Amino acid sequence: MRFAMAIDTKKCVGCSDCVVACQTENNVPIGYCRDWVVEVNDGTYPQLEMEIRSERCNHCTNSPCVRCCPTGASHYDYGGTVLVTAHKCIGCGACIASCPYDARYTHPKGYVDKCTFCVHRVKDGLPPACVAVCPTKCLYFGDTDDPRSELSQVLKKRKFKRLIPEAGTNPNLYFLI
Ligand code: SF4
Ligand code: SF4
Ligand code: SF4
Repeated sequence: MRFAMAIDTKKCVGCSDCVVACQTENNVPIGYCRDWVVEVNDGTYPQLEMEIRSERCNHCTNSPCVRCCPTGASHYDYGGTVLVTAHKCIGCGACIASCPYDARYTHPKGYVDKCTFCVHRVKDGLPPACVAVCPTKCLYFGDTDDPRSELSQVLKKRKFKRLIPEAGTNPNLYFLI
């Protein structure tokens, strides 16, 4: 099983409902976030293009954050997710420095936190909170090892890109383009 997410950049309107849902579902402290929205402008007038995308931890298959964690707090877990065991984290920040996607933050309580792919919901058969609330249905979550999953079907039909592939982390967020 290999959990991943696809984000349809053609359908994301940048409303940030995914950000608010994540903060509510996961008790993210005010002023911090596990997901965020990026707007990228490209081209020259009058041929201008704008891409909007919802970003979060890539749950990388080859993640530097797991490799560099001195206590084993950052680890691979259910379905290949990358998680942090809060009570094992000493807040040294090595993982934050190693992540090419700037996906982690230090929680005011002293441990490092980030997107969990909402595994607590997924284990109950529910989609991640951000996926559940997206009004344009542009977020797809699923198992890329299962060729019948909706996510696998979408990735078969659509063109996609992954961010900073040159970092060699083998990220598991797919941006549909
Ligand atoms: Fe984009 Fe959906 Fe997030 Fe709104 S809720 S910003 S449409 S991903
Ligand atoms: Fe680690 Fe960053 Fe990859 Fe998430 S995106 S698994 S925090 S390296
Ligand atoms: Fe937040 Fe869960 Fe979405 Fe990750 S999967 S960004 S933890 S709501």
